[in-house]
Amino acid sequence: MTLGYAVAVAVALVLSLVNNNAVNASVAPRERLDYIIFENNIVNNLQNPESVYPESSIENIKSLFEMVNYNSQSKTIENEIIISKGDTFISILTNLGLTYNEAHELYTTLKKVYNPQNLRIGQKMTVTTVNRTKIDLPEEPVTDSGVSVENITIETKPGERYVLEKNEQEQYVARAEKDELVTEVNSASGTISGTLSSAMTAQNVPSRIVAEFINIFNFSVDFSRDVRKGDKFEIIYENYISPSGEVVRNGNILYASLQLRKDKIALYRFKDKSGNVDYYNEKGLAMKKTLSKKPMSYQRARISSPFGRRRHPILRDIRIHWGVDYAAPAGSLIYAGGDGVVQVAKYNGGYGNYIKIRHNSEYSTAYGHMKAFAKGIRPGVRVKQGQVIGYVGSTGRSTGPHLHYEVIRNGRRVNPLTIKAAAGENLKGKNLKEFKIIVAKIKDAYQQMFAQAQPAKMSNR
Ligand SMILES: [Zn+2]
Repeated sequence: MTLGYAVAVAVALVLSLVNNNAVNASVAPRERLDYIIFENNIVNNLQNPESVYPESSIENIKSLFEMVNYNSQSKTIENEIIISKGDTFISILTNLGLTYNEAHELYTTLKKVYNPQNLRIGQKMTVTTVNRTKIDLPEEPVTDSGVSVENITIETKPGERYVLEKNEQEQYVARAEKDELVTEVNSASGTISGTLSSAMTAQNVPSRIVAEFINIFNFSVDFSRDVRKGDKFEIIYENYISPSGEVVRNGNILYASLQLRKDKIALYRFKDKSGNVDYYNEKGLAMKKTLSKKPMSYQRARISSPFGRRRHPILRDIRIHWGVDYAAPAGSLIYAGGDGVVQVAKYNGGYGNYIKIRHNSEYSTAYGHMKAFAKGIRPGVRVKQGQVIGYVGSTGRSTGPHLHYEVIRNGRRVNPLTIKAAAGENLKGKNLKEFKIIVAKIKDAYQQMFAQAQPAKMSNR
């Protein structure tokens, strides 16, 4: 008979004893162990009559007993829980079989790094439990639930989690974990046939990046008027990738360009010394700071009256119209055309509710016929380009809801649609120097990414 077979018989015997004891719980622990030794000696004697198991091997048998007991009597379960309404950290654990006190102890430990009350619906919590039946090792009286927690992992956002598990001293400790994310640089380009966003989506550009792209150009391009079939876009943007290769979140747009017929607008991201992030053309001119041509939420608004000479709709005489009228539903949002300070915000005769913003020593903008001003808009208040300043209405001398928009340059009202100058700050000095380095780097990347698609030649308008 081989040794392997002898061991197999011994294990089988121990297993059967364990099972017996599970039923016959009245056998005292010590007796159980003696019985195993006794039985083993018999088996051993039968197989090899010359040797009687020595007393010293009791320890070996005991550890064999423990091993078999452990393997046959406990079960490791990985429970994946998506937090739903009404779940609490404690209720999840007690549902898995822990006592309230056991759950509360874990709660207190976890709270040192993460407040379990911050669990949100939809978050994932993984609890690995070891479930033992209650006839465990005889030396320990059974007082616990028989369920112990090996590990709790709460994923608060992609790539970020809190982990609670036992340390080497068998004490629970909690820690925060964060994946080292890798930045990946992506590019996409395409020709527009329908809308810009559908063209970008077709090239697998994530929706958040599409929205940001549109936002970058929102103040230099009128999407409903300027973008046409056959126009092109190019984009270089970052993604943050987890060690497992998942896109955890979208990063920044480094380069964005629109080719509008023959006109190409190419913009580069730059964070200046004071932390302001903006997009500039190759020369360091802030494109976003160009005064908006249509400073309102309703981008489909049509021009109901252009700048210049016209017959006045109410007074019927020929006079010059000093702004552009955009017909839009009452209540549509009106934005500040550029960064600046509110100079006037009051009812102003034929203008109705009227706001005037001073952008710099050269430029101001004015807005008429408003239904109402936005909260907090009054003289002296600083506003950012794109900030809501009021709502489209028909106050003053007006025939229907529209925005009357004026651009005033050096005290003279000019056509908002033809202004070219930037009304914001352009890069200079150290910032400009650093910006040029970044532009050179992006151009390098551009050559590699778009070289095949186009005989790469960067141009800016
Ligand atoms: Zn008007």
